[in-house]
Amino acid sequence: MTSLTDLTITEALAKMRTGEISSVELTQAHIDQIEKYEPQVKAFLTVTAESALQQAQAADDMRADGGDAPLLGIPLAIKDVLSTQGVETTAGSKILKGYVPLFDATCVARLKEAGMVMVGKLNMDEFAMGSSTENSGYFTTHNPWDLDRVPGGSSGGSGAAVAAHMALGTLGTDTGGSIRLPGAFCGVAAVKPSYGRVSRYGLLAYGSSLDQPGPLAHTVEDTARILQVMAGKDPLDATSMPVEVPDYVAGLTGDVKGLKIGVPQEFFVSGMQPEVEQAVQAALKWFEDQGAELVEVHLPHTEYALSAYYIIATSEASANLARYDGIRFGARVDGSDVIETYKLTRGQGFGDEVKRRIMLGTYALSAGYYDAWYGKAQQVRALIKQDYDKAFEQVDVMIAPTSPTTAFKIGQNTSDPMQMYLADILTIGANLAGVCGISVPCGVDDAGLPIGLQIFGPAFGEDVMFRAAHAYEQATDWHTRKAALIS
Ligand code: GLN
Repeated sequence: MTSLTDLTITEALAKMRTGEISSVELTQAHIDQIEKYEPQVKAFLTVTAESALQQAQAADDMRADGGDAPLLGIPLAIKDVLSTQGVETTAGSKILKGYVPLFDATCVARLKEAGMVMVGKLNMDEFAMGSSTENSGYFTTHNPWDLDRVPGGSSGGSGAAVAAHMALGTLGTDTGGSIRLPGAFCGVAAVKPSYGRVSRYGLLAYGSSLDQPGPLAHTVEDTARILQVMAGKDPLDATSMPVEVPDYVAGLTGDVKGLKIGVPQEFFVSGMQPEVEQAVQAALKWFEDQGAELVEVHLPHTEYALSAYYIIATSEASANLARYDGIRFGARVDGSDVIETYKLTRGQGFGDEVKRRIMLGTYALSAGYYDAWYGKAQQVRALIKQDYDKAFEQVDVMIAPTSPTTAFKIGQNTSDPMQMYLADILTIGANLAGVCGISVPCGVDDAGLPIGLQIFGPAFGEDVMFRAAHAYEQATDWHTRKAALIS
């Protein structure tokens, strides 16, 4: 029998429905896996083993009473930037050490209603600022494919936990690539939904006009199952959109015949690792062989995307992070008066990268500089959105690499923030434009590290994105390969 940690969500649900396995067994297997590999991987900030087993028992009881729910009894783990009632939520920052939310983020609440068993909270770059988890205020997560390498970021714990089979799926958040990059580096399926698809209520905000929570899992179908219960209008988030959520799993037909696939020329950048380019070209050829039509498209403002992103994201961050003052929640360093308390708390509570971004953003928003920086960046963003809109008038989906390289070594990019920012060069456009994207494994490089294929759908076109990604995944076995550590 395959081990319980090797199941997909779809398989685990089927086995629980027939009574072949219980959620308690399934959950215990994942807790054992965490105990075994967590000392090396360090994906979790908090493991909630005890409450997970209680939730699993409740799920089994509900099933015994004839009940069911879309994710009943499925062990999942949550990025620590999403509020979880009664469970510490730090956003990877020392400034929130000890903060225990009184409520759940809407996406977490919806997963609970759908029957999730929550096994813990996952490590991340502080306030989701980074591409490697090296900016975590606590520790760096290690990539299960090569422990000397980063898992990607900022949702690095979310990628590593799936790759190490410590949970059947996880939630991450993506502001500029933070779900898709760890997906690519850890060899798992990873979805950034369209802006407005998933409620941001209870997500500790970084760049509010860019942030979206989304799922990571072993298969495209599993991510579709998770997104299905998270998606949809939430009265608590005015930016969540009242757009109907189609049945994603029903749309996974395996058929891509006649699908128009845009190949954005600007995304095949020079300096890309050759194996990445080869793997993506091979995937494109597979689509063509299945009867899809490849169309050259252009996103001409791509070269300005990184600059615009780092003005907009840091500006929004400087405003969003003003609330962390040590007075109402989180850690506090007392000074002789309130101003000194603010200074000490923020000075000691925030890490260097967060401070750099608060300064950048505050500068970009300051009187006299606003028009030249923030205003200009917003204009560039409008042009980038137009590029994507025009491309999607011609094609159903677009395909590109997720990242120009595979996972880099821990420490390799820490001394040069620009180098680190470049890891997101192929992902940030989707956030600026508000469209959806998924990363799925499409190969390994010469060192045996996974390569990510990125498939973009138009805004609220997750169904066609899922269909294309699932068809490719079913025809290949990249997603079944296991990280070196656990194989
Ligand atoms: N690496 C990018 C940043 O640091 C994206 C992070 C994210 O998507 N949260 O801002």
